[in-house]
Amino acid sequence: MPLILDHVEKSFPGVRALKGASLSLVPGEVHALMGENGAGKSTLIKIITGVYRPDEGTVALDGKPLFLSSPRDAIALGISAVHQERNLIPRFSVADNILLEGMPVKNGLIDVKTAYAEARKHLKMVGLDVDPAIEVRRLSVAQMQMVEIAKALSHEAKVLLLDEPTASITDAESETLFRLVRQLRDRGTAILFVSHKLEEVLALCDRITVLRDGETTLAGAPMATMTRQRLIEAMIGRAERPVIARTGRPQAGTPKLEVRNVSTAAGHERISFKIQRGEIVGIYGLVGAGRTEFARALLGKERLTAGEVLIDGKSVKIRSVEEAIKRFRLGYVSEDRKHEGVVLGHSIRTNVAMTVWDRIAGRLGFLTARAERQVAAPLAARLEIRTPNLEQLVGNLSGGNQQKVSLAKWLAADVDLLIVDEPTVGIDIKAKAYIHELLNGLADNGMSVLLISSDMPEMIGLADRILIMHDFKIVHEHLNDRRYDVASVAIIAAIHAAESPA
Ligand code: ADP
Ligand code: MG
Repeated sequence: MPLILDHVEKSFPGVRALKGASLSLVPGEVHALMGENGAGKSTLIKIITGVYRPDEGTVALDGKPLFLSSPRDAIALGISAVHQERNLIPRFSVADNILLEGMPVKNGLIDVKTAYAEARKHLKMVGLDVDPAIEVRRLSVAQMQMVEIAKALSHEAKVLLLDEPTASITDAESETLFRLVRQLRDRGTAILFVSHKLEEVLALCDRITVLRDGETTLAGAPMATMTRQRLIEAMIGRAERPVIARTGRPQAGTPKLEVRNVSTAAGHERISFKIQRGEIVGIYGLVGAGRTEFARALLGKERLTAGEVLIDGKSVKIRSVEEAIKRFRLGYVSEDRKHEGVVLGHSIRTNVAMTVWDRIAGRLGFLTARAERQVAAPLAARLEIRTPNLEQLVGNLSGGNQQKVSLAKWLAADVDLLIVDEPTVGIDIKAKAYIHELLNGLADNGMSVLLISSDMPEMIGLADRILIMHDFKIVHEHLNDRRYDVASVAIIAAIHAAESPA
C-alpha cells in the first residue's frame, strides 16, 4: 500500500519548514530521504506520523486521504517511526519502554513474565542482548537507539520511518540494523530511511528523495541511477547564479590574518590559510563540517590545541570577542543573530554604539544618548537601515535590518578584519543584495573578510578564495575566478571526494 505525500506545506512561527514536499513510498522498498540540516526531513516524518498536521497538500495511504490527529492514529494504521530525538523514558525498564502502548495484561495486572518474553523477542530481532528488566538510562546511547527501533518494530509496522537511526551507533550496530531493514523490506514493509551518510544510503536504499529548503528536489529516483555528484547537487543545489560579482583585488604584503596548522579542542585538524588585506576568503561546507566552531575557536571560544594565529604578522592569543575587537580590530557577525548579533530589547542607537562605549563615554565614564546617536546616525543612514528613528527597538525590525544593525556596530568600531557567519540567512532578497554590496565594498576599501556561508551563489559571488571544510578539516582550496559552473563543480567534487572512503 503506497503512501503518497503530495505538495505538503507546513509552517511554524517564522519558518516555512515544508513548502511543497512530495514523496511516494511503496511496500517492499527502502527509500532514502536526504537533505541538509533544516531541509524539513523530520517535519515530513512527523506529518506522516500525525505529530503535525499539514497546512496544505495531502497525505494518502492506499489512495485514501489520511487525517491523523495523533501518533496513535498512525500506529493503528501500521505507520511506525523512530524519531530523531529520543523518546524513551530513562527510568522505565527496557520492556516497559518497548511495550508502552501494548503491555500484556492478565487478570487486570501487567503480566510481567509475558512482557519480558515479548520484549526479548523484539530485542532479539534487532540483535540487542540486554536484560529487559534493566532501566533504559543504564544503557549506552547506541543501545538506546536499538531499543527505539525494537519498539517501533513491536507494532508490526507496514510503514517504518527511521529518522537518522545510525547517527549515534557504531558501524557494527549499523550492519545489524541494515540486515534487519533488508529483511523487513523483503517481507513487504515500506521503509523510509533518513541519513547523512552517503555510503550507507547508496548501499542500502532502493530509491531516494531529496529535500532542499522544504521542497522536493529529487523525487524517488532509483538508486541505480544515482551518482554521489547528482545527489550532492540535489541537496545543495547549483541552479542559481551568483547575485554579485566582486570588483576589487586582494592586496599584496603581510597577510591580515594567518592561521598556521591550528587544531582545536572542538576537533579541527591542522587548519592553515591566509587572508590578505582587501580579500574575502570563504569557508564552504555542509552543515556540521565545523565552520562555525572554527570561527568560535578563532575568537577564543574554543581552545586551540596546536598551531598559531597571526594578525598583521604577529602571533596573537585571542581570548574573547571583546578582546578581539579592542586589541585586534576583529569583528564577528554571528550566525545566531538574535542571540549574539544584536540585543533585541535595545534601540538601534544602543546596539550600533555598544562596540565603542568606552571610546565615547565622557571623562567620568558617563554615556549619553547624544554620543551614541553621533555614532549610530551616520551608519544607519549609510546602511539604509529603514526605520522611523534610532530609538526603535531592534527586536521590531525585519531580519534584514537587524543584520544591518549587527554589521553597523562593527563598522562603528572601525574593524579591519571581519568574520561573518551566514550573513544573509533568513533575510529578504533586497537586504541580502545590499549586504553583498556592502561586504564587497568593504573589501574594496581594504577590509579582510572571512565569510562562512552555505549559500553557494553567495560564496561564489563574493569570495576571492574558497576553502572547503569537511569534517573539521580543510580538504580543498579553490581560487575563485567567479565562473559559476567551474566553482560549483570544484566545490561539489571536493565534498564528494571527502565523503568517499580513502
Ligand atoms: P531536518 O530534519 O531536515 O534537519 P527539520 O524538519 O527538523 O529539518 O526542520 C525544518 C525547519 O523547520 C527548520 O528551519 C527548523 O528550525 C524548523 N522547525 C522544525 N520543527 C519546528 C518547530 N516545532 N517549531 C518551529 N520551527 C521548527
Ligand atoms: Mg531532522
